[in-house]
Amino acid sequence: MNEQASSRRRALERLVGLTALGAANALRVPQALAAAAPARLSIPGVAGKVIRRQDADYEMWRQSMVWHMSKPNRRPDVIVQAKSTQDVIGAVNHAARNKLKVALRSGGHNSNGASLRDGGLLIDVSAMQDIRIDREKRIASIQTGVRSLELVKAAREQGLTFPVPHCPSVGLGGFTMGGGIGWNYPQCGGMSVHSIVGAEVVTADGRVLRAAPDENPDLYWAVRGAGPGFFGAVTRLDLRLYEAPKAIMASSYILPLAELKTVTSALDAIRQAGGTERIELITVLMHHPEVPADAPPEKSKICFFTAFVFEDSEEKARAALAPFARSALGGDKCLIKQEYRSFDFEGLYDRFFSLDDPAGRCARYAVDNVLTDRGSEALHALAGHFAKAPSRDCHVLASYNMGTRALPDSCFSWKADCFVGSYAIWDEEKDDARNFAWLKETLPLMDPFAVGHYVNEVEARTNPGRYVQCFSEANWRRLQELRRKYDPAGVFHSYLGHA
Ligand SMILES: Cc1cc2nc3c(=O)[nH]c(=O)nc-3n(C[C@H](O)[C@H](O)[C@H](O)COP(=O)(O)OP(=O)(O)OC[C@H]3O[C@@H](n4cnc5c(N)ncnc54)[C@H](O)[C@@H]3O)c2cc1C
Repeated sequence: MNEQASSRRRALERLVGLTALGAANALRVPQALAAAAPARLSIPGVAGKVIRRQDADYEMWRQSMVWHMSKPNRRPDVIVQAKSTQDVIGAVNHAARNKLKVALRSGGHNSNGASLRDGGLLIDVSAMQDIRIDREKRIASIQTGVRSLELVKAAREQGLTFPVPHCPSVGLGGFTMGGGIGWNYPQCGGMSVHSIVGAEVVTADGRVLRAAPDENPDLYWAVRGAGPGFFGAVTRLDLRLYEAPKAIMASSYILPLAELKTVTSALDAIRQAGGTERIELITVLMHHPEVPADAPPEKSKICFFTAFVFEDSEEKARAALAPFARSALGGDKCLIKQEYRSFDFEGLYDRFFSLDDPAGRCARYAVDNVLTDRGSEALHALAGHFAKAPSRDCHVLASYNMGTRALPDSCFSWKADCFVGSYAIWDEEKDDARNFAWLKETLPLMDPFAVGHYVNEVEARTNPGRYVQCFSEANWRRLQELRRKYDPAGVFHSYLGHA
């Protein structure tokens, strides 16, 4: 192999460790600020830090509430960093008395920066990080500031696991309440919202209510799926845990974008043959990271397919991955493959969701999606448009075997096999219009395949109506009715762009 070919191969090998959902750099700023910013205003009953608009460090706090770099130009009057449920009650009561509308923030990863609103009071629960695990009942009771990696570590100590976000710093609060496509979702109840079994909610009148199947079941219904427009402050979530896998293994295949048909045909055939229902299957259309951004698509755009297997033994994991190794995925069109690689959870985050990842870069960020039963068709419909993406880190991701459900005790509304997301990732403000336009143009291409949309990953800054499309008509109507019941005076903000 000549030097150029071997350098290309090394680049592709590195790429096998990359993918499209995320990275971990949100934790640092608030912690640094916590040491630097003394509280100057006290709110009765609130022990946590309080930052007002006139405080010198307000702007740093405000910006640190949102993980990515498209910082919204929206300014709450007060930010409260709650340390306890008591703090949340104090903050809600203060807001209600002073006619300040309340917003919530857990991990700050929402692409719309939904926690930052104009005026009002923002309650940041990211410092509330208690985790209690009942091994026997297989339940974790977590405060809503807990993030992906912390829960997976705590559960693993008890031989258990949860479908946590693919990126270690994403907040369990927003992620789980909106849906949650977590690691090993096919074997952990589908979307993580289906694994919420109870919640502690501070309501607009400052009460602490338990939401569970037999206690305030309507509130329970709303917690399970309302996402970034919920009408209360959730301080604890009780989550069903699952037996931890003994073997985690992945096989990855990279082909040129022009070979998308090879990828989807192979995948569809393998799935039709059966036995793949327990496997997390992800296809990403992306730019080759070592090829200049302006290289023509035929030289730069690739399909990157990975099958992730979580099993009881290495033997079973290998058997589950065998059909992929036998298929055309690794055939003569394949640029590179890495098969039967073993991981632990930390390894998964590092290899597939590292800071080198195109999506993981903390850049300007926008996303929209469909939930669909025709994932491969949606990918083909998007491929040509993807090839013309305005920025090199724009990508399209399809997760199969989602197994989402529409249940009577959850406002999550859709039964679908596949999530397809279009992601625009870019650096400069001057490129905002081009990237938002590119993302918007993906909608008429993928929407015809939609059974619905995933509320945590829609572009609502430019299209607030998108939130409505994330729920069935009946569920959206019931959510509004429950908002009137639990928050008649409108203490809590609704969805961004909605009164
Ligand atoms: C890098 C990256 C990786 C991601 N990876 C995944 C992934 O693997 N799978 C996936 O499904 N999604 C993923 N997402 C999307 C993620 O699910 C959403 O961004 C989600 O909103 C993040 O939750 P958060 O708590 O971090 O966000 P926040 O911005 O803190 O919260 C979002 C909204 O949720 C509501 N909320 C949050 N906390 C509370 C609370 N305690 N009480 C009431 N309401 C609350 C508020 O309305 C808030 O504005 C990722 C996003 C990024 C940027």
